[in-house]
Amino acid sequence: MSQTPFPPNADPATWLGVMGGGQLGRMFAHAAQAMGYKVAVLEPSADCPAGQVADRTVEGGYSDQAALKELAALCSAVTTEFENVPGDSLALLANDSFVAPAASCVSIAQDRIAEKAFFVECAPTSKVMPAPHKTIASHADIDDVKDDLLPGILKTVRMGYDGKGQVRVRSREDVRAAFDSMDGVTCLLEKMLPLAYEVSVLTARGHDGASVVYPIAENVHRDGILFTTTVPGPNVSDACAKQAQDAARAIVAQLGYVGVLCIEFFVLEDGALVVNEMAPRPHNSGHYTIDACITSQFAQQVRAMARLPLGDVRQHSPSVMLNILGDVWFDGDTVREPAWDQVLALPGANLHLYGKNDPRRGRKMGHVTFVAPTLQEAQDSLRAACAILGIDA
Ligand code: ATP
Ligand code: MG
Repeated sequence: MSQTPFPPNADPATWLGVMGGGQLGRMFAHAAQAMGYKVAVLEPSADCPAGQVADRTVEGGYSDQAALKELAALCSAVTTEFENVPGDSLALLANDSFVAPAASCVSIAQDRIAEKAFFVECAPTSKVMPAPHKTIASHADIDDVKDDLLPGILKTVRMGYDGKGQVRVRSREDVRAAFDSMDGVTCLLEKMLPLAYEVSVLTARGHDGASVVYPIAENVHRDGILFTTTVPGPNVSDACAKQAQDAARAIVAQLGYVGVLCIEFFVLEDGALVVNEMAPRPHNSGHYTIDACITSQFAQQVRAMARLPLGDVRQHSPSVMLNILGDVWFDGDTVREPAWDQVLALPGANLHLYGKNDPRRGRKMGHVTFVAPTLQEAQDSLRAACAILGIDA
């Protein structure tokens, strides 16, 4: 796609734009501002995590033509903090600004069918395959489901996140009931795999094709939401790390991607690596990079957008990240502030709260990353934090 070339943004008066006002946009703004940039956020409501810290909030819907024009006119480069940004909006922005990642890349990640097909296409070089799967767009598709795809998980093709839009199914009858409950949207049936553990690989690719790959992260999910990220991963062998990192390099190159991309993988009980999905943006499992790596994933996104050299991805300390959900504000039915003073007294604690003033159960409110000379010490701090916050460790 055509993108107007821009010189590297040496001028500190240069503006960078971000589509979306959530916590990823907020942490992006922090990183960009630390490097001297001004940040504009496009979001329907100014009182959002990113809007609270941005130099300017362009209030408007993600497809609002006037708002998009305003953002593109102001910013020399624009990125997105959520993958469901309309592709047409990114394409429009690209007429007047440098857009990274490009609409064509984001649109693959928005659609599980396109994403899986792309992973299959990459397999000759990435050497990894996605889980066996089948598109379910009609009842006839369900009749054609082969026995070996069951038990499985029926996932909506679009808009799923944090395990939403997913139903576990054991039989064709289950698939039928689950499909009927999804308001007729196209779904993907994925075979349920025997997971030993889950990992993600954060990668960034520059405009010049240079790419970097961060240390592999081991992730634990609870109720479909990321619970902890541990780096280095206690279960991850050197061979597994290399295979996942090589796969990520191959995938990001084949995409022709510019910016930060995170790829999630499953490691099966027999040790096989399976590629799950990709997020065309900084990722929750990459938050550890803020406190444990030389270049955070957000600073890396700034560099990629500004067409500056990519930064050093070296990790200087073992780390464990704990997601903080709204649940920890609740003591029974009473809502009160968690004991941050006690959490911050723990060795190696780095607290990040996203400025959301309405704690709800299951809502991501912040995270804490513990860094320490050894992983054991970081994990000890995490366990102590869980005890303070009333989270089952
Ligand atoms: P998010 O965007 O928050 O990462 P999501 O809603 O897009 O999640 P997935 O990542 O596809 O959905 O799935 C959520 C979790 O469900 C996975 O991290 C994994 O624990 C489990 N899961 C998904 N697919 C499979 C599978 N085929 N076999 C076994 N477990 C699976
Ligand atoms: Mg996922």
